[in-house]
Amino acid sequence: MNDCIFCKIVSKKIPADIVEEDVYFLVFKDIHPKAPIHLLIVPKEHMGPVNTLNEDNRDLIGDLILKAKETAEDAKISEKGYRLVFNVGKDAGMEVDHLHLHLLAGKHMPF
Ligand code: AMP
Ligand code: ZN
Repeated sequence: MNDCIFCKIVSKKIPADIVEEDVYFLVFKDIHPKAPIHLLIVPKEHMGPVNTLNEDNRDLIGDLILKAKETAEDAKISEKGYRLVFNVGKDAGMEVDHLHLHLLAGKHMPF
């Protein structure tokens, strides 16, 4: 049985605050937001974090970033700006091993 929390959100077994859904991606609000706007862009199909990806995933990764760009446009934050983050592994504090892109916005975020 798949115990992945994001797979459960994708299959609607557990609730989430869903912002957008299409054939390939689900966008929902992070449950512990680190910025006024904190969304997660998630491929519906389970796949691991960036360090597990390969050539076969090339198209999907491109589409994931374009989905983030469109999500930012829909949220009207394109001009003010936003940050896209992939956490990878322990030192990055990665908690969920289903590939996801964080979209953070709504405050000044010096690096
Ligand atoms: P990461 O540290 O990159 O693995 O990020 C995982 C993110 O998922 C964290 O920012 C969590 O707050 C978020 N998260 C975990 N469970 C849920 C959930 N059920 N609904 C929404 N966001 C979640
Ligand atoms: Zn999953």
